[in-house]
Amino acid sequence: IQQYISLDQLDKLAETSYPLCMRVLHKALRKNHHLTHGGRVQYCLFLKGMGLSLSDTITFWKDEFTKIMDDTAFKEHKYTIRFIFGQEGSRRDYQPYTCLRILESTIGPRDYHGCPFKRMLHDILEDELTDCGFNALERSAIMKLSKDGQYSAACNKYYEIKHDCFDDNLFKHPNIYFNESMKHRT
Ligand code: SF4
Repeated sequence: IQQYISLDQLDKLAETSYPLCMRVLHKALRKNHHLTHGGRVQYCLFLKGMGLSLSDTITFWKDEFTKIMDDTAFKEHKYTIRFIFGQEGSRRDYQPYTCLRILESTIGPRDYHGCPFKRMLHDILEDELTDCGFNALERSAIMKLSKDGQYSAACNKYYEIKHDCFDDNLFKHPNIYFNESMKHRT
């Protein structure tokens, strides 16, 4: 499904309908007004997949990035966003990353991208889950799956708790997670 998403919905959607990988990126961007290249591409493609328009996507990133850089420095990032939307360079229609692609991401110490169920240190993941409002029992159910290397199952458990439902989806794509959530909430 493709629906109209406006910028003022993003903070709420990050809480209600984003998978954890995208919630982490959104939160880091709001806090630091910056993401490293891998995070910018992963999140920007997800926003494109959600149906956010090119002009809204540019406004969204500009509002954050220009808190720590000037308009001239932002121009390079604007080019990357337009490139991702197929408006520059080879004009390819780049698709949002699948979970498999995200799980295989190379991660450095300043990075927030990748799949948190795989890449996050256990105590940091637990803090994130606490920040999501999950209780100790819920956190331990997700942590166990994550520690066992069952990343998709951990993501599915996260979805079930967030949506107070049972769902036998093993998510293979963050935008499928998002679309399922939107359907569930309407
Ligand atoms: Fe994101 Fe996929 Fe990991 Fe879920 S399993 S957090 S959708 S990368």
